[in-house]
Amino acid sequence: MSAADAVTDSLQSLRDRFVGVREGRPADYIPQLALADPDAFGLALVSMDGHRYVAGEAEVPFTLQSVSKPFVYALALSLLGLDEVSRWVGAEPSGEAFNAISLEPGTGRPANAMVNAGAIVTTALIPDTPDDPAFDRILRCLGCFAGRELDVDEEVFSSESVTGDRNRALAYLIRSTGTMPVDPVLAVDRYFRQCAIRVTAVDLATMAATLAYGGVNPVTRERVVSAEVAARVLAVMATCGMYDGSGDWLLRVGLPAKSGVSGGLIAVGPARFGVATYSPPLDATGGSVRGHAALEAMSDRYGLHLMLNPALPGSTVTLVTTADDLPSAPSAGHERVLHEQVGVVVAQGSIDFTAAERVLYALDESGPGGGSVVLDLHDVTSVDSVARAMLHTGLARLVGDGRRAAVVDPNDLLGPADLVRERTGQDLPRYATREGAVEGCAQALAGED
Ligand code: GLN
Repeated sequence: MSAADAVTDSLQSLRDRFVGVREGRPADYIPQLALADPDAFGLALVSMDGHRYVAGEAEVPFTLQSVSKPFVYALALSLLGLDEVSRWVGAEPSGEAFNAISLEPGTGRPANAMVNAGAIVTTALIPDTPDDPAFDRILRCLGCFAGRELDVDEEVFSSESVTGDRNRALAYLIRSTGTMPVDPVLAVDRYFRQCAIRVTAVDLATMAATLAYGGVNPVTRERVVSAEVAARVLAVMATCGMYDGSGDWLLRVGLPAKSGVSGGLIAVGPARFGVATYSPPLDATGGSVRGHAALEAMSDRYGLHLMLNPALPGSTVTLVTTADDLPSAPSAGHERVLHEQVGVVVAQGSIDFTAAERVLYALDESGPGGGSVVLDLHDVTSVDSVARAMLHTGLARLVGDGRRAAVVDPNDLLGPADLVRERTGQDLPRYATREGAVEGCAQALAGED
């Protein structure tokens, strides 16, 4: 037993709780899918460190079906960009079933890439060249998301091929509106193939975790798509991933998700985890009954709803004071008076937009108006580019208001000296230690006396 088995225990307890649910039936409109074991119930979770946790039938292979859609959409966005893809496929929730004729009045553009109409067009957008056929690109890309080479279940593929007239009809209808970039039969054939790619719940959790991790597969550490593409895919999953059940899902579970008619279901906790379930019996919207119940219970129990942020992340500013309050302050006299006029702000951790706001607010609060201020970044681990620009502007304003600023920045987190000079309009004195910076400010004040 290990400590992390506690995570496995939570998956196992979700499985135990819902394995007895008998509602729903496996899809049978694709005859091969009706052969699935209705009792199979697997769960898998992959963390941002690439740790994997499983319960039940998490290694049983099944076909992706509609869970393929967000990943092919990601590939299309990567290859063609958002503007080009959006010319062909929208991003509005259709509020309709997955196989509905969800085409925008006027343009004929499919509503979004999560319903069949939009997914078929998305697949048709993937470039097809003799040296790199479209389907090879799709298979390879989805393999990168899963972290292993994937293959096609030929039986499921031909089973859908011979019965898939509704999708073929949809593709022809789309062509009639002028929004089908390739031959409809070819597009649907490729789409059926992508739906028949074989995975396990562990693969799906890894694929979901790659979207959660900004497009980098947390197990293989390979970048599969850009952070922007991953964010856009998650946005569309959040609003459209569960078809006509999307609104209710976002309300109750609060995680971007995608279901498939083979019984697979993924959900993504951005920057937190990817989770997947496999259980073939489906509800009326074509989503897995047990998967839905398990993920809803999981979100509820562990507080995973995207909009639920009960506490602000750890404190950024650890100290706002004046230098006479520091242990190193002189005990009395003129020196002490000078130290009273030096504000000190100490920050820690990684600084992003929200953390930068806290630092800037603390700079204003520190010390008497017009005095000097030391910004101590010694314990800051990183400053992202947005936060860096905010700190530059904030420090420039401070100096513009007549205050003197000095920073403790031993790791040059504010950037090279010439950049700081350019952005703040002055040579910001930089020190290796807080004591040195306070001393520097006190001496500068003494010089002004
Ligand atoms: N291949 C299936 C279809 O097009 C996928 C649908 C789904 O999983 N919702 O009907």
